[in-house]
Amino acid sequence: MFDRIVLASNNAGKLKEFSALFAPLGITVIPQGELGVPECPEPHHTFLENALEKARHASRVTGLPALADDSGICVDALGGAPGVYSARFAGEPKSDARNNALLVEKLQGEANRRAWYTCVLVLVRHPDDPHPIVADGVWVGQVQDTPAGEGGFGYDPYFFLPEHGRTAAELDPAEKNRISHRGQALAALIARLKALA
Ligand code: IMP
Repeated sequence: MFDRIVLASNNAGKLKEFSALFAPLGITVIPQGELGVPECPEPHHTFLENALEKARHASRVTGLPALADDSGICVDALGGAPGVYSARFAGEPKSDARNNALLVEKLQGEANRRAWYTCVLVLVRHPDDPHPIVADGVWVGQVQDTPAGEGGFGYDPYFFLPEHGRTAAELDPAEKNRISHRGQALAALIARLKALA
């Protein structure tokens, strides 16, 4: 099918995770920064549109197939917010600490703590691919008022998983990668790719 793919992100953690899963398929993942791809704006209101735009942009600049992801946390009592705005929920410059403080503040007195992380992955074989491969993953938990755990990033210390009795930040990193929204989306994408090979 192809042996190289550009990743529309420069996040080292994502590169490692994606590389490990694509290696058995004989596909090398190259971060877009290595190929001189500038950051792409994410102007849309949905994860899907933002991921598609990032993938097409990276593919157009490099001439390679491209993979992009977009993710965030959606909170039931906030009508799905912060959603695509998760990274900058509390404004610029982006700060996990301020984002989490704002989230806890907005949920003061709220009994419904249900929330879910979402990850959408889009793979385009070329910039004008009429049939991008799309996969997504959803990880449901509850927002708690106090942080617990040192692992993960973003909202993880406040994202409680009832079936594990722990927050996402308290999970072993390998376990988080396996069961998280991103892990689920990646597994679904790899299954689609294998089916198409
Ligand atoms: P991005 O898709 O990597 O830009 O992530 C968007 C934002 O969503 C991050 O900056 C975090 O605030 C939040 N987010 C996405 N995935 C996770 C996760 O696995 N743990 C905690 N926060 C996450």
